[in-house]
Amino acid sequence: MKVLVVGANGQVGKHLVKKIQDTEGLQAKAMIRKEEQASYFKDLGAEPVVVDLEGTPDEITKATEGVDAVVFTAGSGPNTGPDKTMLIDLDGAVKTIEAAKSAGVKRYVMISSFDTTREAIQEAPSSFSPYVAAKHYADDWLRRTDLDYTIIHPGMLTNDEGTGQIEAAEKVERGEIPREDVASAILASLQQESTIGKEFQIVGGSKSVHDAVKDL
Ligand code: NAP
Repeated sequence: MKVLVVGANGQVGKHLVKKIQDTEGLQAKAMIRKEEQASYFKDLGAEPVVVDLEGTPDEITKATEGVDAVVFTAGSGPNTGPDKTMLIDLDGAVKTIEAAKSAGVKRYVMISSFDTTREAIQEAPSSFSPYVAAKHYADDWLRRTDLDYTIIHPGMLTNDEGTGQIEAAEKVERGEIPREDVASAILASLQQESTIGKEFQIVGGSKSVHDAVKDL
């Protein structure tokens, strides 16, 4: 299975590309936005493709052609304003969903935010609410497609070493999770068709990632 990782140069993205490359039968196409980021992925044996999420839908569709699954783990990050939140976390995400449809790629895994309900938009501090709104509508766009989607809602991401142990359910207590374990949960979702059509929250826990995802 060839997987397009959107946001491959990000912190979760890099863990994910490595895990994909280390898994037999899986291969990563790493979507990055700068040519100078390509050598890292070539060294892993992955196929880099340089496309900016602010680019045209056609450019994103072209990058999506020939893969079997798309994972969206890009994000505008905390150091830009609501303008980039709109253009990357919402419009960028929607363009990749539409690209998957146009390219005939059925499988799509979205890395969302922990809580993207309407209530969460209302309750978020004003500095955070545009991001929650962007994620809310990107998730909603995906749910309204006929893609084989999975929406993963991770808790607060940390750079701690992965433990391989998580808690996963439709609703879990808010908590932290190492980025490496998020990457493992994405991989487990890609490998287990039972996650198609499901969405769930994940935080650090006490079940192996494989079992936590299998038991959803
Ligand atoms: P990250 O390290 O900030 O990585 C984001 C990636 O998106 C970067 O590689 C960045 O590219 C890429 N990107 C930004 N703008 C782009 C554009 N215009 N075109 C193409 N790529 C672009 O993110 P992370 O910490 O791994 O988070 C992964 C996901 O989890 C994100 O979707 C985030 O919203 C979500 N999330 C975060 C938290 C949290 O606690 N932080 C919690 C739940 C969910 P460059 O490398 O070139 O900058």
